Amino acid sequence: MNGPAPAKAADTSAVDQRIAELLGRMTLAEKVGQMSQVNADFPDAPARLGDAIREGRIGSVINQVDPGVVNALQRIAVEESRLGIPLLVGRDVIHGFRTTMPIPLGQAASFNPEIVRQGARVAALEAAAAGVNWTFAPMIDIARDPRWGRIAESLGEDPCLASRLGVAMVEGFQGEDLAAQGAIAACAKHFAGYGACESGRDYATTNIPENELRNVHLAPFRAAVDAGVATLMTSFSDLNGVPGTANRFLLRQVLRAEWNFRGFVVSDWDSIRQLAVHGLTAGDADSAHEAATAGVDMDMAGGVYAAQLPGLVGEGRVGIDVIDAAVANILRIKFRLGLFDSPYVEGDRIPLVPVEERARIARQAALQSVVLLKNAAGVLPLARADVKSLAVVGPLADDPYEQLGTWIFDGDPGRSVTGLQGIRDLLGEDVKIRHVRAMETTRSRSTDGFDEAVDAARVSDAVIAFLGEESILSGEAHSRADIGLPGAQAELVGRLRETGKPVIAVIMAGRPLTLTDVIDDLDAVLFAWHPGTMGGAALADLLFGVESPSGKLPVTFPRAVGQVPIYYNRKNTGKPSTPESLVLIDDIPVRPGQTSIGNTAYHLDAGDRPLFPFGFGLSYASFEYAGLRLGTHELRIGDAMSVRVDVTNRGGMAADEVVQLYVRDLVGNVTRPVRELKGFRRIRLDPGQTGTVEFVLHSDELAFFGRDNTLIVEPGEFHLWVGGSSEADLRATFRLVEVSGG
Ligand code: BGC
Repeated sequence: MNGPAPAKAADTSAVDQRIAELLGRMTLAEKVGQMSQVNADFPDAPARLGDAIREGRIGSVINQVDPGVVNALQRIAVEESRLGIPLLVGRDVIHGFRTTMPIPLGQAASFNPEIVRQGARVAALEAAAAGVNWTFAPMIDIARDPRWGRIAESLGEDPCLASRLGVAMVEGFQGEDLAAQGAIAACAKHFAGYGACESGRDYATTNIPENELRNVHLAPFRAAVDAGVATLMTSFSDLNGVPGTANRFLLRQVLRAEWNFRGFVVSDWDSIRQLAVHGLTAGDADSAHEAATAGVDMDMAGGVYAAQLPGLVGEGRVGIDVIDAAVANILRIKFRLGLFDSPYVEGDRIPLVPVEERARIARQAALQSVVLLKNAAGVLPLARADVKSLAVVGPLADDPYEQLGTWIFDGDPGRSVTGLQGIRDLLGEDVKIRHVRAMETTRSRSTDGFDEAVDAARVSDAVIAFLGEESILSGEAHSRADIGLPGAQAELVGRLRETGKPVIAVIMAGRPLTLTDVIDDLDAVLFAWHPGTMGGAALADLLFGVESPSGKLPVTFPRAVGQVPIYYNRKNTGKPSTPESLVLIDDIPVRPGQTSIGNTAYHLDAGDRPLFPFGFGLSYASFEYAGLRLGTHELRIGDAMSVRVDVTNRGGMAADEVVQLYVRDLVGNVTRPVRELKGFRRIRLDPGQTGTVEFVLHSDELAFFGRDNTLIVEPGEFHLWVGGSSEADLRATFRLVEVSGG
């Protein structure tokens, strides 16, 4: 496993010694200062915060991205405070800084850790040049509820995918050496279980049994900690009755005792004070007590630690050892960042990649994140030779801002290439393009613009409709109960269908949408998430076959919102449905006798299947999988085995395919999912070319938390599938066996 930036033992102890020395010189007020982060989101921050920084009452600021202002704040901390301890400068750099990558859920659809790492690296370099040395990303909450607005920020529903891509983000932000110019500290959030909020309502309660917590929700955090993530953020949400910000089990037992985390933990924004709003505490003093003793090292923007901790220590309610440990954790990261040696932003020392290279990475990320959901009769790619005129319609066809998605404080819409622009750039004057916005926003109910769109469609060879949701419909505190296309979009699709022209939808959204009502009226669907700065250029390449789509769904698309939660790695139940067992609502005879015999786990009005499964995504090529072979059919515990498969491109163009490996543990001391992703690999194949993909599956990857919530590897039989989605049917079996005599 990748460890933290490889601090040599001697360095580590030298740092520990400096921390001990500093702690020895600090007053209680200065210690609490280190534990306090304050908002600095104003141009006169040095004037407003100067005294507090000078007096050592602030350890970190958030939301200041003017390098001049950052340096002025830092100068006060370093040169004018008694101990000269530099500030951490935090900012939500979630999927890019100025150059915006696809939203994280879109990046997850690339199934490509390398492009995710590169995107985070670009973001880190741009942010560092603005004075940021700490980002609040990656968000690695497992998200299985598309109503939840923050699913946009997530890496999807699967622990293996979220772990690998979360680690890639950490590596991209932090680099190999956190002290290097351009590296920034990452923050794995939100610890833990936030994605399971009831009915997808943001901030709502979560109840997650410890077994599921460990097997699913904690897995990506464990991976991030093992990869050396500098910080973690607690969750706003209440987990089994104890909010994340006061959750000792998570923070002390799991994070520190079991995982040996050496970084620090920050609260979410004002979440310490909110412990009282939750009803866990009677007021700020109790909240500070709960959070500090649970292991929250820094108070984000709440002011509760600053106001309460000195008194609590004075009364003996919070031990000075708790304070010292928190401050040491924070100082350790300041040392790891090299801030004591190099506190100031010096833009010219940061190895910025040229702007064209940043755009190339954003374009590549967008290209690989778009998922082709439908392509009836091979309508895509459009042939440039045949298409002489195009109707480009819809509210998101030419909107440089909305394609950027949620959390783009610093994103620059001025750099966006929209879909319309991308198509124009690619086609030049060859094709007549009629652009009709048709709706003011995706939520508009007015159909006033529809006639113009229909007229444009009638006289064009094809229609490309840019539909979906604006960025404000997803993200924090932006959950939806109905996740269909908002406003009158379905009606617009119906009107376009009536023209008889091929209707191709490009859907931009921050979440899976229920497309059940419109899918039959669309000839092709490219699901583009919010694709970021270069989205339009990438989409033009995909529409016209310069490249083939290769994104795969990182999350299940339900048919109906009532199926939620619906995810591929579910349990089997005692009455799993089969095609034969499905009797849908219209087929139920009138007044049948009530019976449960033969009935299985599904919805009468939606069946048992999603609209599109996890891992799914079409290509302009077609891939044939054959020759699945395992290195052994008896894998010994402690060993690894190879899994090989031959993949052939039977299509007419070179294309990428994401090859996926799933297993099922048939019998477990707790029930096991029907399938679990264990590996994935993006490969590129020319027409007719066969590539052999090899996975190495170690028995450790088959471990799970059992009935007593300890990690176990159980001998027994496994099924294994390799293919292009979670419904891959090329199967093999193997047994996991004890080492004889062991
Ligand atoms: C969000 C965090 C974010 C923080 C700082 C909070 O409301 O939950 O994810 O990092 O604000 O902006």
